[in-house]
Amino acid sequence: MDLRAFIRDIPDFPEPGIVFRDITPLLADAGALDAALEGLAAIARPLKPDVVIAAEARGFLLGAALARELGAGFVLARKPGKLPHDTTSAEYALEYGTDALEVHTDAIAPGSRVLVHDDLLATGGTAGALCALAEQLGGEVVGCAFLIELGFLPGRAALAPHAVHSLIVDA
Ligand code: IMP
Repeated sequence: MDLRAFIRDIPDFPEPGIVFRDITPLLADAGALDAALEGLAAIARPLKPDVVIAAEARGFLLGAALARELGAGFVLARKPGKLPHDTTSAEYALEYGTDALEVHTDAIAPGSRVLVHDDLLATGGTAGALCALAEQLGGEVVGCAFLIELGFLPGRAALAPHAVHSLIVDA
């Protein structure tokens, strides 16, 4: 199935000059959603992750379903102040300034095999923070799996030496 056909390009969103990749048509189509999850699971299964970690909000959409597909657990990374228990945090760079993600300190057991997931890889800031969080808790990042990668941005290089797997790469 051509999954790219289910992703809608929205010019000048959220600001002029940006072409936003809108995955909602893919999510809304039962066959495309199934094929996307099957594709991500096929990439991730050989990596044998114990848990999948993903960030709010769009990382949660496929991340939890992917974890279920893999027989793995799911770890939520959230914006600061949203998680109720003890947390550890990692900062990452935005175009202007920084942001941070937090996870519960007991969400990843030391030595766990961790798969990093997000819907889209752009600069790698978000996924890099997820890798850092996993490693801060003693996890081993076994790879990063994305639905779409913007291949003209340096996200893949930013995540090195972690392996990057993407179902769709936009040139
Ligand atoms: P990065 O941190 O620069 O790699 O950006 C990736 C993050 O921004 C992911 O969490 C995406 O959900 C979000 N994002 C950036 N651009 C887009 C887009 O065009 N469509 C959907 N999400 C995007």
